[in-house]
Amino acid sequence: MSMKKIAFKTLGCRLNQYETDTLISQFNQGGYQIVDYSEEADVYVVNTCTVTNSSDQKSRNTINQASKQHDQALMVVTGCMVNNKKDSLGKNPRISYLVDNERKSSIYNIIDSHFKGELIDPELLEKNVFNFPLGEETSHTRSLIKIQDGCNNFCTFCIIPFVRGRAISRPVADILQNARELIQLGYKELVITGVNIGRYEYESTKFEDLVEQMLALPGDFRIRISSIEPEGFGEKLFSLLNHPKLAPQLHICLQAGSEKTLLKMRRMYTARGFKEMVDAIRQRRADVNLTTDIIVGFPGESDEDFQETLDFVQEARFSHVHTFKFSIRDGTRAARMDEQVPEKVKTSRSEQVRLLAEANKRQFRSSLIGKTQRLIIEKEGPQLSMGTGEHLIPVKLKGRFPKNSWQLVRITGIENSNDPALWGEAIDSAD
Ligand code: SF4
Repeated sequence: MSMKKIAFKTLGCRLNQYETDTLISQFNQGGYQIVDYSEEADVYVVNTCTVTNSSDQKSRNTINQASKQHDQALMVVTGCMVNNKKDSLGKNPRISYLVDNERKSSIYNIIDSHFKGELIDPELLEKNVFNFPLGEETSHTRSLIKIQDGCNNFCTFCIIPFVRGRAISRPVADILQNARELIQLGYKELVITGVNIGRYEYESTKFEDLVEQMLALPGDFRIRISSIEPEGFGEKLFSLLNHPKLAPQLHICLQAGSEKTLLKMRRMYTARGFKEMVDAIRQRRADVNLTTDIIVGFPGESDEDFQETLDFVQEARFSHVHTFKFSIRDGTRAARMDEQVPEKVKTSRSEQVRLLAEANKRQFRSSLIGKTQRLIIEKEGPQLSMGTGEHLIPVKLKGRFPKNSWQLVRITGIENSNDPALWGEAIDSAD
């Protein structure tokens, strides 16, 4: 079989990115040529997202982009939109294979068999959400590591439990082995990902126990915790915040600052409890970089409720806020709620959160001037290089520094832009 060209497009979250990265590795090792999604290929794989209406639209556009331009190519669609909208996607004659999340790890087998003349029905394959190979060759300097899938919380606005299934945790031994292999491959940062990672529990090992075990692995690397819900962990994780290998940056999803709205969202905490947790974290590590998710325009959200969210973002000093306009997801309880908020009110509220978060971001990043950061170099330039420090902030430095190397820098300044990178000067090579 002549070398086949394959292109991937991933939408949505880091978990989707992890899954695509491991598939790219598998096809690489299987003798396929990985090409960019805009190029000519024999196969296009779209890993979709369905978290909001606009995610659905982006997924459809991405599918159409390839299927229209390359009418002979194999079109494989996977990800959360397949689990959510299988029937309507199934009506698209240009889609060759629809593969749900539970069989996504079998995509190599499905495509390779196809080119060997054996047509496999994905629905007949075994379900396994952890059977992904080691993500060896990815273009990233940091590697994602999946520890968990699914969620049992059923927040009233969220479609994820319907498309990712019930919460399930990956065996501790598999995760630690995966981490060892990635460290041996030279990855300097491992990013823990999943759907509701704080709820990780395998036998008697809870999330913070797992983090502690990963931090204890030998090697010069750091662990970063990706997006986490504010429940399922506590004191022990806070006590790890000063561990030299744990990145002092946490993205903890608040969603709203009003007790009334949090109750209607069926969130597992109160605004007061969340604030106490923020204070406890900062008592442990004052320079931690806290970021969050906020939904504006949830059904019934009054101006007063929204003002509570703004006040909360201000007080908690979140240095970055992913702001989502509430989006009706069929099948969720919030979709059936009265008092839906007009789109233009959502847009105005989203803009207010964005402006406030930008001010917080500049304030937090400026607070690092004069301090040191240990960068992982991600862009190696002739005159200018760029890396990311432990607080997950981009830092530019003059000169050429090898990609995927450590570099200690002193922060000397901040860019004048809405999303300001920092400037740094190299001090004594970290290696
Ligand atoms: S905890 Fe997160 S993934 Fe689970 S239902 Fe709530 S928002 Fe969705």
